[in-house]
Amino acid sequence: MNHIWALGNVMKRLTSIIWILTGKCNLDCKHCYAKRFLDRSKWGEEVSKEDVMNVMLQAVDLGLEWTNFSGGELLLFKPWVLEVLAKLNEYGVDVSLVTNGMFVNDEKAEYMSKNNIFAYVSLDGNKATHEYLRGAGTWDATIRGIKKLREKGVNFATIMAVGKHNYKVVEEFVRTSKELGASHVAIIPIMPFGNALKNKVWIERDEYVEALRAFAKALETYDIHGSAWCTPWAKYVVKSKLLHAGNCRKSNGMDIGPDGWTLLCDVLDFKINYVLGRPLREVWEEYNNHPLVKRVSKPPKAYECPFYENCMGGCFARALAHHNSFEGDPLCPFYKDVRRARAS
Ligand code: SF4
Ligand code: SF4
Repeated sequence: MNHIWALGNVMKRLTSIIWILTGKCNLDCKHCYAKRFLDRSKWGEEVSKEDVMNVMLQAVDLGLEWTNFSGGELLLFKPWVLEVLAKLNEYGVDVSLVTNGMFVNDEKAEYMSKNNIFAYVSLDGNKATHEYLRGAGTWDATIRGIKKLREKGVNFATIMAVGKHNYKVVEEFVRTSKELGASHVAIIPIMPFGNALKNKVWIERDEYVEALRAFAKALETYDIHGSAWCTPWAKYVVKSKLLHAGNCRKSNGMDIGPDGWTLLCDVLDFKINYVLGRPLREVWEEYNNHPLVKRVSKPPKAYECPFYENCMGGCFARALAHHNSFEGDPLCPFYKDVRRARAS
């Protein structure tokens, strides 16, 4: 029996889970947000394979459609995630993981290919900009991993973290990704959290708008689909039918941290509730009723903007970091206009 239906259609379906399963990584990138999960004064021990499998199989009953596992470097420190993702794939869930690509080998690539496990591989521009963030020798190792994925028939996309140092090489990133055989490409702005805050590599508004414009142009030039992650207003800035931009405020999903606590957003340290030791249905219901989750998913109209209804105030993590509010994304060029209008 469909459990959602058994509840009388009262509960929202849980359609997506993003689970950061480890803070451990072979690298210590200048822009990393995940290393903070290794601080045991704030975060508990990382959850086990059995616990993850148990939670995810319950999520299937609650309507899970897609999941993405991230880190840290999963293929080095949690290679068992492949078995969990393979099991979920048997239930028809779209499954993916994020990797730096450096630990892809024949065996892992063949397993991923056989079990429809999609890979998001980090590729931060060109060799110089990638290694500026990640360290010497990382580019060639990642390219080797990508070629191995392709050789074994694994579908993959590349994801570029865009900061001050690399926003001018977005076109090169798209071209390289197309040549390597990526099914699509994605960009995400580097934000002032974790290592990125410490190393001052996050990007400013005008720089990111320039990067977005170059991205949309390159999608057309190389005829490839692209996603703008964590910028729900991207489609109001640049027009391209090849550009996609989601909005986390509308998601029917949860982010979970390595210790099993759900998070308001995985770059913020707001823990919502604990997923282990009781039915996931209860956890999901409680999560949706949490005041912070309600606050970000049904924001009040905070200011006048023609796109507010859809965009809902942009990225609340950046708004919090910038001016301690849940609305008003400092990267959004329309928000700049709003502030100017207020001041005049
Ligand atoms: S709050 Fe911001 S950083 Fe977090 S998922 Fe949403 S858009 Fe991304
Ligand atoms: S000004 Fe605010 S609501 Fe309008 S598009 Fe930008 S972030 Fe979204």
